[in-house]
Order: sequence, then C-alpha cells, then structure tokens
Amino acid sequence: SQQTDTSKEKLSVELKEKQELVQASDSLKEMKSFREKLPAFKMKSEFLKAVQENQVLVVSGETGCGKTTQLPQFILEEEISCLRGADCNIICTQPRRVSAISVATRISSERGESIGETIGYQIRLESKRSADTRLLFCTTGVLLRQLVQDPDLKGVSHLLVDEIHERGMNEDFLIIILRDLLPRRPDLRLILMSATINADLFSKYFANAPTIHIPGFTYPVSEYFLEDVLEKTRYSIKSDFDNYEGNSRRRRKQQDSKKDPLTEICSHISLFQDIDVDTNYKDYSLGVRKSLEAWSGVQIDLGLVESTIEYICRNEGSGAILVFLTGWDEISKLLDKLKGNNLLGDPHKFLILPLHGSMPTVNQCEIFDRPPPNKRQACFFSTNIAESSITIDDVVYVIDCGKAKETSYDALNKLACLLPSWISKASAHQRRGRAGRVQPGVCYRLYPKLIHEAMPQYQLAEILRTPLQELCLHIKSLRLGTVGSFLEKALQPPDPLAVKNAIELLKTVGALDEHEELTPLGRHLCNIPLDPNIGKMLLMGSIFQCLNPALTIAAALAYRNPFVLPINRKEEADAAKQSFAGDSCSDHIALLKAFEGWKDAKRSGNEKQFCWDNFLSPVTLRLIDDMRMQFLNLLSDIGFVDKSRGPNAYNQYSHDLEMVCAILCAGLYPNVVQCKRRGKRTAFYTKEVGKVDIHPASVNAGVHLFPLPYIVYSEKVKTTSIYIRDSTNISDYALLLFGGNLVPSKSGEGIDMLEGYLHFSASKSVIDLIRKLRGELDKLLNR
Ligand code: ADP
Ligand code: MG
Repeated sequence: SQQTDTSKEKLSVELKEKQELVQASDSLKEMKSFREKLPAFKMKSEFLKAVQENQVLVVSGETGCGKTTQLPQFILEEEISCLRGADCNIICTQPRRVSAISVATRISSERGESIGETIGYQIRLESKRSADTRLLFCTTGVLLRQLVQDPDLKGVSHLLVDEIHERGMNEDFLIIILRDLLPRRPDLRLILMSATINADLFSKYFANAPTIHIPGFTYPVSEYFLEDVLEKTRYSIKSDFDNYEGNSRRRRKQQDSKKDPLTEICSHISLFQDIDVDTNYKDYSLGVRKSLEAWSGVQIDLGLVESTIEYICRNEGSGAILVFLTGWDEISKLLDKLKGNNLLGDPHKFLILPLHGSMPTVNQCEIFDRPPPNKRQACFFSTNIAESSITIDDVVYVIDCGKAKETSYDALNKLACLLPSWISKASAHQRRGRAGRVQPGVCYRLYPKLIHEAMPQYQLAEILRTPLQELCLHIKSLRLGTVGSFLEKALQPPDPLAVKNAIELLKTVGALDEHEELTPLGRHLCNIPLDPNIGKMLLMGSIFQCLNPALTIAAALAYRNPFVLPINRKEEADAAKQSFAGDSCSDHIALLKAFEGWKDAKRSGNEKQFCWDNFLSPVTLRLIDDMRMQFLNLLSDIGFVDKSRGPNAYNQYSHDLEMVCAILCAGLYPNVVQCKRRGKRTAFYTKEVGKVDIHPASVNAGVHLFPLPYIVYSEKVKTTSIYIRDSTNISDYALLLFGGNLVPSKSGEGIDMLEGYLHFSASKSVIDLIRKLRGELDKLLNR
C-alpha cells in the first residue's frame, strides 16, 4: 500500500500542475471572466470554508447564479490545488437526464477539456466517464442504483444533490438514505442545492445544518395577467379580433355588472370554452375552488399564445421569448400552428427552439450555441425544464400558461393520472424570474389574476402524489427494512394506503413474497429501471421467444405513444390506427405493427411519407427504437438474453399474435377488465372502481362485441369519466396461465378463482395441469 500511496501522491502533483497550466493559458480567459461575474464566485471562499467545516451544507440561490456549474467545480479545483486530487471523487446528482449532460458538457468547456476526462456524466444506460473522472454528474436514479452495490458510497468524497426544492421522489428518497448514511461516513461531505424557496426545510431535516444563500441580482420583471394580455393582443392583432370580440363583449357586460371575483373567473372561463360554471354558490370559497377545477380542464389556448408572441414581436423590442407549455404534444402543436403564420413562420426572422426533457442531446447545443441574434428573434417553447434546471440568459419575455403536467395518484381508486394542472405560486415566480437575467423583462401570464391568487404556495412533493411500487422495490433491494417504517422517516411521509397498494401490487406481480421479501423475480426487476409491470413484460417476452414485440411495446409504454392526435383529422388518424390493428382488438398490436411498418419504410427511404400518411411521430418512433436497444442490453446484462445468439434468437413466436397478447396479459396484470354483454353493447368492469369506459382514442372504442371475454390495459385515467387507455382483448386462458395467483374458491373442490377476476371451473385434472404449468413458469421467471 506504500506503493499506491506514492503513486497517488504523484498523481495529485500531476493533476495540480496540469490545472495550473490550464488556468494560466490564454484560451480560457473569456471563460474565466464569465465565471468570475457569476454571483456564486463572490461566495467561493465562504462556501469552501463551510464545506470543510460541516458535514452537511444547504446552499440556496436564484436560478442562474452558478450553483450547478460552479459549486462542484470550486470543490474540484480546491481539492486538486491542495494535492488531494487523487482521492477526490465528487458526485453531483441531477433530477433530469438533459441537465446532467448539459451541465457536465458546460463545465468541461469551462475547464478547456473534452467531456469524459475530469468531468463526466452518467445517465440511465448512457455515460461519458473515464478513470480520470473526478467530478461526475449523474441522474438521481443512477446514484440510487449505485447504492445497491455500494451502500456506504465508498470512495465518494463529496456528494452534491441538486434541485432539491423540486421535491422529486428520487431526491426525497435519497435524502432519507443519506441521513442514515452520514454517521457511517464521517468524512463524506453532503451539499444540498436548492432554488431560493424552502431551504430551511432541508436544513431542519439534517439537524439544522448550516445554510448559505447566494444573493443574485436579477432585473425587475413586470407582469400581465390574462385580462391585460387580452386587451393588448386584441387591439394589435386584427385577424384574431373576431375570435375574441364576441367573448369580450360578453365579458365587458359582466365586468360592468358586478366586480365580484367569482363572476370574474367565470367570465374568463366562458371566454374559451363552454363550461357550465354555477355562479350561485352559497359557499363562496367552494365556488372559487370549483371554478379553478373547471379551469384545470381548459386546454391552453394556443391561438392566444400565438397572438401574444406576435404582439411581442411587433410591439416590444428584440430579446428572446420563453414560452412555458405543458408537454411535447403542445409544443409540437404550436410549432405546426406557427408554420402558417406570416411573421413567425419565417425562419429568416424568427428562430424557434423546442426544449423538453426527452429531447435528443444534439438539439440541446442549439439552445446555448446560437449564432449572434442578427435579425432573428429567438423563441423557446419549453416544458417546466427551463423553470430552474436550464438557464437561457438572453430571455426578456416569458409567456406562462400557468400549467405543468403533473402526476397525481388516487390511492383509494388506485388511479394514476398525468394531467396538466396548475403550477404553484413558487413555480410561477420562478418562471417569471427567467425574464430578468440580462435586462428588465416582461412576463405575460395567460391566466386571470384570480387564478394566480388561488394557486397553492408550493407544489405537493412527488412522493405524495405518485404510485410507489418502483420506490418500494428499491427500498427492498437496498435492504432498508420494512417499507412502511422506512418511509415514515421521509421529509413528508406518503399516505400509508398508497404504500399498502404498492406492496400489494408487487406481491401480485410476484416481486415480493408473502413476508414482503424480494423474490428472485423481484431482484431481476430491481435491475430493470422501469415500472415493475413493464419489466416483467420484457422478461416474459424473452422467455417466450416474443422478444421483439415485447421490446417495442415496453419501450412505447415506458416512453410514449407514437400515434399523434391531429386536431382536425381525428377520423383519418383513427382509421390509420385501426388498419394497423386489423381484427386484433388491440392498441398494443396496432402500435407494434405501426413500428414494424416504420422500420420497413425507413429501410426503403420512405420514412417521412409513411409517418405522414399514418399519423405517426418519427421523433417518438426513433426514440422508441433507441430504447429497445437499451432494454435489450439490460436483458443481456441480467442474463435473460444472450446477445451472441444474434438478432433473430428469442423471436420464434414473435409473429404469433395470440402469444403476444398472452405476454401482454402477463405484463399488464392486474390491469384487467371483464367484458360483459349488455344487450347489443359491452360494458367493462374492474375490480376496484367498477364500470369504466374505453378511451375514445383506442381502436376498441367503437367495438360493440368483443370476441374474447377480458381486456388488459396500460393505464386508467380519470378525466370526465374513468377511461382505460391502450387496451387489448385477451382470452380467459391467457389470464388463467399468466395473470396473478390462483386462489381456491370456498365453494369446493374442482373450482379455482383468480383473485376475483376469473371464475374458472374445471375438473381436478385440468386444474392440476394448470398449476403445474404455472409452477414451471414461476421457475423460469425466478431463476
Ligand atoms: P444555477 O445552477 O444556479 O441555476 P448554473 O450553474 O446552471 O446556475 O448556470 C450559471 C450560468 O452559466 C448561467 O447563467 C448560464 O448563463 C451559464 N450556463 C450554464 N449552462 C450553460 C451551457 N450549457 N452553455 C452556456 N452557458 C451555460
Ligand atoms: Mg442549477
């Protein structure tokens, strides 16, 4: 070990010399002066001192002040110049993949290196790092997985957890583990980084750890609400005047009559959509709340967004515009819409850049490395990713729709929803702040002032509003004790009913045994960073030689559906999807066939036309294709697939649709509904919530009679009623062999039930045979 000590010393000296050389070089002069202007720079010595003296430190500061890019770098530089470079191993977690890559790349260029040398990143299944890497950016999920192998984080010298104010599930989970870990690792330094909201909460959680605030200068940002925006755009844009005129006349009349807030909200609601809002609520606050709820269902008026952008371009100065929308679908709809706009559709005058979490990394460079803004005004269409993880400096105008896609979980009905909902006041404030980075800015909020006043102060922590099965599986694989008692230590513990549901589901899937311990199958599923149901579908696909369909369907379920929903051509789109489905009564088969068709079309150079004709998104299809490869690598890593056997192995039954449907059943169980004849129609029943409807976008929406008695589905969503999305009609045999556990019924021998779904009566010999088959299957899954 003496020898390693000397070689370490040598390395530390080398690192120091190299750093000094680079820092003195001219090529980095500009970078250096940029860095020195950031607010974080002024706090450098105070920060380093606090890191040295405290095991835990909380740092807060306005977005853009230099927390993410500077603080880990300060530590790195300090360690290297104090000749501790060889032992220095800094990890900084990011909630999103995009920011992990973008930040690591940025710091590399600030240091005049290429990515993967001293600075690296690792996200799910993609990494750029080497033996020289001393500062690694990874997603929080990646660090959580590392903890399985390395529960004490041996060798990590500093850990920075970023964006904790967002209260993401992974971050909330990680800090429980870290709080327990710190006493075992007295030399480990933990730094929590947050936007200016709520830093005290975290300090308290870590026994009143010291906090440092980085004061940052931002310019004032004036704000307008819907009321003002309508006035403005109405006067400046003639063509849209007609659309609003009728509405605004009505609005003016209401305004004159009485200025009470509820009437005011209602008048705004009726501006865009015909929603019945009862203005005669006796309970006034209930009335306001109901109105808010009604507004939640209102889609963002992209026409108004367009008018507002146009208004800015015509009447305000230059300066980039940042538009907050809820998701990729809206972003792409707006992109399409603007193509037809005389002013905004002209790429010589106007540059549009979309910005969202699942964007390919190449596009991200465009965000920062834009050519000088000669005569083109830049406009970013972003999800809430630009709220705090990514800073675009030259933004002067923010257009905020006031919504974000948020998951919510209804534990009572076991319903998970991902729907646009109102953001919190804290988020609205963040969004507004994006406009004042380089000069005074303007924020246009496309919702009434009253809605803003009714917004919650902070967003609910993710752990309180999502299903917990992946988290529970993780807790088990990290051997953190019983799930319930572990989660009680959280900053805000989740609903015990949600915990109970998650455990039950994991038992049904076969990942946990009756004592809540991981089964071998559960252990495999821990190694697949996906929803356990999707993971199981992949395993079944490889066991039953249906690998290609399983990969495609799992990738689409884990990512998104490639079918786009055009607003005006719904019938044509439905017909295209239906022709892929054939007579399978399955959205999943439609998806599979569409993907296969796209593959063929791509090979013959016909991709664009094929996607256009069939209402498919080429971007999504390409991402699904990438994801399939990643899943295949995962299956090979855990030993379920031997890649050396070539691409056609494991696919003997891939064209047998009955088999594919059985695999779907195995993966999607317990998402089952029973089809019951009601006269000429069919009604659908689930165990939990009773009657449900098939989503109108499904190929099964118009079907009156189904050939087979059951349907499995990917998710239930609650909007106007409870809908099941993406569904597949399956036989009772598929359910009997692949779905859940067999439970003997009370009524006597020879009859078995499947946990309340299937009542199956057969002779003892048939049941014995089924038991035997299922036993063999369990062995394969649990090997
Ligand atoms: P914080 O984490 O406090 O929000 P960052 O450290 O991410 O701040 O960013 C500090 C500054 O560095 C930002 O104002 C931005 O101008 C700049 N910056 C960050 N990332 C990049 C990048 N990829 N390319 C160019 N500039 C960047
Ligand atoms: Mg940051």
